Amino acid sequence: MEAIINDTKLSIIQGDITSQATDTIVNAANPSLMGGGGVDGAIHRAGGLAILEECKQIVAEQGRLPTGKAVITTGGNLKAIRVIHTVGPIWHGGGRNEAELLASAYRESLKVAAENKLTSISFPSISTGAYGYPVAEAARIAVSAVVSFLKEQATSVREVVFVLFDARTYESYLLALQEVTDSPKA
Ligand code: ADP
Repeated sequence: MEAIINDTKLSIIQGDITSQATDTIVNAANPSLMGGGGVDGAIHRAGGLAILEECKQIVAEQGRLPTGKAVITTGGNLKAIRVIHTVGPIWHGGGRNEAELLASAYRESLKVAAENKLTSISFPSISTGAYGYPVAEAARIAVSAVVSFLKEQATSVREVVFVLFDARTYESYLLALQEVTDSPKA
């Protein structure tokens, strides 16, 4: 499914983010930036040690990455030339600002992409794996954060792709995009 927002194409696909050929792919990292399970482990395995080396340097310079923030490294051996690492919130039931922090992870990643004049970006479903965020809710937040950003900011980014690993997550994002694009205030 696709939508055009301003001059940017937003699409939703099911697949493996490590094989995407967008300029940049987003990693659902943790604050240590040292790799981990899920999509983080997959990106570091496919991208090679150059990504980890840059992550180590970033942590040495600025410390752990706070939740909702984003940094950029090389794409190493990936097709993508850069990886943007962001940290989504751990789900604690919704009362710890999780929704705002999740929206921030998407916004900050898009800001970093624009600052680096990148034109295309792929996102995974941040926080809905090990971090436990309920998928339907996370999908609505993810899609509305990206759509609002594209409506409000001038950006170099002409293409945004949500790359969802499993069918259930994919369906949730499709539904969220339908809801957001059908809603008159979106
Ligand atoms: P978090 O810790 O932010 O919850 P996870 O990596 O545990 O991050 O999960 C986030 C989402 O990424 C989940 O939907 C998971 O199925 C998905 N995922 C795992 N591997 C990949 C991959 N190679 N490409 C795209 N999505 C992936």
